[in-house]
Amino acid sequence: MKQKNILPYVTLFLFMAIGCKKENNQIEPTLSTCEQVNQLAENAEFIAKFQSLYEESKMNNYETGYVLFLTSKSSYAYERVVGEQNKASINIDVDKALDGFIHCHYSNLFPIFSASDIRAVYDVYEVDQMKNPQTFLLGVVSEAGESYLLKIEDIGLFKQFGQQYFQSLQSFHNFENSYYDKQQSLLSKGRTVSFEISLLDMLENSGLVLFKGNLQFNRWLRMEKGTDGNLITSVCR
Ligand SMILES: [Zn+2]
Repeated sequence: MKQKNILPYVTLFLFMAIGCKKENNQIEPTLSTCEQVNQLAENAEFIAKFQSLYEESKMNNYETGYVLFLTSKSSYAYERVVGEQNKASINIDVDKALDGFIHCHYSNLFPIFSASDIRAVYDVYEVDQMKNPQTFLLGVVSEAGESYLLKIEDIGLFKQFGQQYFQSLQSFHNFENSYYDKQQSLLSKGRTVSFEISLLDMLENSGLVLFKGNLQFNRWLRMEKGTDGNLITSVCR
């Protein structure tokens, strides 16, 4: 039987703390998806955090990241998290509601979000520690400087998607395997592109949207798959 080597890519496990539920949501005006992403492109602190994660990903054999807590409409408090050596994962203590998480993948890991990264978004939602699905943000940068953001555009669709793929270990493994198979089948297009196309395929009808950053982390373009199967990037408006 063919044994697939996917375990090394598993990343971002959540450590679930029990008993602390988030406080009642206050209704505050929030930014739209495009407003948020475009403002982050001009947010010096956010850019600096991505730069430092990028630098770390080139030197380290462990993951580092920051848990995000909004302090205003468009700025965050950053809580640093560090993974273990040679372990492609980070434990995040979700004992309080969070606004997002950004992290880095060191050399030889996926240059983009792993299946576990996507599942972690659902897990945060499921344990009721996502402060606001409309503004929740997941970010990653690789050691080659590829950077991506993920946002929830349609929470109803995302719930269905999560229930379909992330509620049992078996369905999660199926998801992980088909992501891997797709990516391998697209390798001739180049490693990064193979991951980008296969992730977009996996995220079809997920209610999630993907953005790609530039090397300065001051521009984020929305990524979609065109009808010809190729990638389309566009300014979010
Ligand atoms: Zn990750």
